[in-house]
Amino acid sequence: MAFFFSTRGGGPVDLETVLQSGTAPDGGLYVPERLPNCGREALRACETPAELAQFMLTPFFEGSRLADALPEICAYAFARPLPFAELAPGPNGARLRLLELFHGPTAAFKDYGARFLAACLERILAEEPASAPPLTILVATSGDTGAAVASAFSGRERIRVVVLFPKGRISPRQEHHLGCWEDNVQAIAVRGGFDDCQRLVKQAFASAEPGLKPAGRGRLGSANSINLGRLLPQSAYHAWAALKAGEGSHFAVPTGNLGNGLACLWAREMGAGIGRILLAANANRAIPDYLASGEYQGRESVGTLANAMDVGDPGNMERLRHYFGGDVERVRSAVSAASVDDGRIRRRIRREHSDSGVALCPHTAAGVDACRESLAEAGAPGGDWIIAATAHPAKFETVVEPLIGQAVAPPPQLQELLARPSRHEEIPPDMAALARHLP
Ligand SMILES: *Cc1c(COP(=O)(O)O)cnc(C)c1O
Repeated sequence: MAFFFSTRGGGPVDLETVLQSGTAPDGGLYVPERLPNCGREALRACETPAELAQFMLTPFFEGSRLADALPEICAYAFARPLPFAELAPGPNGARLRLLELFHGPTAAFKDYGARFLAACLERILAEEPASAPPLTILVATSGDTGAAVASAFSGRERIRVVVLFPKGRISPRQEHHLGCWEDNVQAIAVRGGFDDCQRLVKQAFASAEPGLKPAGRGRLGSANSINLGRLLPQSAYHAWAALKAGEGSHFAVPTGNLGNGLACLWAREMGAGIGRILLAANANRAIPDYLASGEYQGRESVGTLANAMDVGDPGNMERLRHYFGGDVERVRSAVSAASVDDGRIRRRIRREHSDSGVALCPHTAAGVDACRESLAEAGAPGGDWIIAATAHPAKFETVVEPLIGQAVAPPPQLQELLARPSRHEEIPPDMAALARHLP
């Protein structure tokens, strides 16, 4: 039986509890009791990303009611291709490749974790009596990320999704992508900023009983990115890429809340043969500053071109520090980090396009820039680098197109979404207005 503990000491709890929780009751985040060492040869024997995910995640599902369904869940979450794209070589002959994580239904890497979690939760709910009230998943989004959750839960039995977004502060395409789903997904424009959306979500959770257990006033659930059900599957694509790209490949990971970066570290710990890990932040510098000074200080977030990474106080820092017993020296030997400001993001998008014809989204551009910068610094190893390409550039067309001087065609899955009708409600930024849309 696999067990999980809170970073603040609570637990043990089982997998079902972890998947149904946001934070642990003691305020910490759930982590596995231990990470299995999967063995390089066994990992290498896996023939598809889905098979690899199933093999790596089996120890975490041991003894759970979902264990038998894991192959099916992985096949569903890892159905899309995971191609590499070649960039111009680095200074010391380093080979640079993008790992394209954006072939899912909303063209961002968050599709992997969201689909995996949705498939798990639907199966947990299916075992409840038919009279149990539906679960309402409530999320706030600053634009890009809510679509992955909306898509993953669209049309599922017994689950509703309410997505809050700041009215007029997201692009028309992003707005369209939040409202174009089945009837169980409701998009709501809040007359206010992203902070208002987040405040409303917090208030809703404070006033209702969270979790899947039936509560008097309906059930609210979260599917936010600190849920382990989103994090664990992300380790599988890093491992897959490392096994495909060659022993000891280094990774640069565009980093906001540190979910993807932590998943990469866990993949290495599980035996995937990953070399260095470079966390590429935007102008939100909490992680690079922590590695430089040894003191961790969460901040207010600042707005950047890579807005899905605008996180001032990354939630998964708590998991990272916990993993290394709070010892910054050990963290430093495990990962490095860099901050890339908007000027560098712009130059990088222009430069890579003229050098190799590849259009980058602003987040991916931060990863590529941090990678090239670290290669240019004395002492950085050459060798193979893989940069996680976290979103398709067509999702950030207003940034990317003027820089490269041409249009970026949306991939087929986004075109299909844009062709669907889209609808949303609008509310003032107060709890009474939101409450009318909640159970
Ligand atoms: C969420 C997101 C990131 C940051 O990932 P974290 O797991 O929060 O560090 C980077 N790029 C894109 C496109 C994202 O949507």
